[in-house]
Amino acid sequence: MADNWIGIDLGGTNIKAGVVADGGAVLARREVDTQADRGFEHVLARLVQLVSDLLADAGLMRTAVRAIGIGVPGPLSHHRGIVFSAPNMPGWENAPVRDRLSGATGLPVSLENDANAACFGELVAGAGRQMQDIVMLTLGTGVGSGIVLGGRLWRGSYDAAGEIGHTIVVPGGRPCPCGQRGCLERYASASAVGQRAAEAIAAGEESTLAPLGGARGTAEAVTAEAVERAAAQGDALARRIWDETCYYLALACVNIKQTFDPQQVVLAGGLINAGDALMTPVRRHYDGLHWRITPNRMRIDFATLGGNAGLIGAAALARSEFG
Ligand SMILES: [Zn+2]
Repeated sequence: MADNWIGIDLGGTNIKAGVVADGGAVLARREVDTQADRGFEHVLARLVQLVSDLLADAGLMRTAVRAIGIGVPGPLSHHRGIVFSAPNMPGWENAPVRDRLSGATGLPVSLENDANAACFGELVAGAGRQMQDIVMLTLGTGVGSGIVLGGRLWRGSYDAAGEIGHTIVVPGGRPCPCGQRGCLERYASASAVGQRAAEAIAAGEESTLAPLGGARGTAEAVTAEAVERAAAQGDALARRIWDETCYYLALACVNIKQTFDPQQVVLAGGLINAGDALMTPVRRHYDGLHWRITPNRMRIDFATLGGNAGLIGAAALARSEFG
């Protein structure tokens, strides 16, 4: 009989979870508010309830599930099963997530960084299905990333691999909450697109976006979507910011290619809603930046699983650990 796994994608705003079959098919799925402001114990209780509800939805006994995989915004230790801290989730300092969730559900638990889990999800059931070596960049509030080499998630020696969003692309550049300056995510995340446009407007540059982000508006109103739309309509500032964003993404792709030589870079997250308006300039810049010594075979593709990548990947990682 085929085995089933529970995958959980825990975020600061909501929790997505599902019962996932061996092949990656999602048999039951639920999404609930995290209610992170109520602290670790409350969120843990919600996770335990979610597991019970999913089993009921799928009509499965607990014994029909082999293990739980959970992706959490890190930093964390997979090997120790501890989340060191989680952004926007108070009370998660040194939280023993793996053992507490396992104790409460009676199932083995595999704890993973959420971006790593999403990357593994795209490998087993999404854009990277035919691949062995892929790197994923998730372009949202920050730039999350995961690295899979030889079909296995690359965690690094100290559980901290795959922080490509915090590789430095501009020496001495924009300050990052991580403490460094010039990190990729300060230039290529969805948030950074809006922030950079708002800053340019505040500094006096003319733009059709000015009513959103100038003296009469708020910086938060200048979204990546608004910048992309204004760029498409010919706004010079928006075009420059959008093109720079694509340039930095292409630069990251060159660095990934030269470091790992993967078959594919998968782009995910809110920014990919721009579609060809993102992919075409990223590929053009990539081709312009990349060396000419050998042919360029690495693919750059969009993710295909959307909001299910994290839970499917978390389930698949549990399978690779406990299967
Ligand atoms: Zn950083």
